[in-house]
Amino acid sequence: MNIPNKIIVHHTGGTDANPLEDTSHHTAVIIKAWHLAKGWQDIGYNWVIEKTGKISKGRSETIDGAHTLGQNAQSIGVCFSGNFDATLPTKEQEESFKVLYKDLQIRYPILTTDNVFPHRKFANKTCFGKKLTDNWASNLAKKAMETNPEVKDGTSECKELLKKERKSIIDKIIYFLSTLY
Ligand SMILES: [Zn+2]
Repeated sequence: MNIPNKIIVHHTGGTDANPLEDTSHHTAVIIKAWHLAKGWQDIGYNWVIEKTGKISKGRSETIDGAHTLGQNAQSIGVCFSGNFDATLPTKEQEESFKVLYKDLQIRYPILTTDNVFPHRKFANKTCFGKKLTDNWASNLAKKAMETNPEVKDGTSECKELLKKERKSIIDKIIYFLSTLY
């Protein structure tokens, strides 16, 4: 059971053949296919933010993730499509992260802006990319709290997904309560 106390942000990164390969075209569907090919039960991340800003829901937030060794039972894993060792995230991705962060913050008050970290804080990797400073995602979260980012047309799907995620958590709570009687 995953009980998040932090958000860990990733990039899809390069490939073994070319660490600087631009992987910004990778989608949640592609990432999931790789993770299934490794024999995993589902995509390792809870959320993926694609180059267009599209937010895709990955693994259920209530189940342990598969993205950061030692942190998978206490974190939300968000992956940006792209290799930020070589390129930068799009403005659309940054805006979508703000929307997602705000939703997560409401649902898990413990996920304050100081609890948003790059993967590299917990592993000997460059993830989320050498081009970005350690506080890049945390700063986006801070901006999200200062302003009121609206879910715009392009992310109406996100709104639906977030609604579904809430419903699945409520269903789990109801099920849990029902087992008490
Ligand atoms: Zn990572």
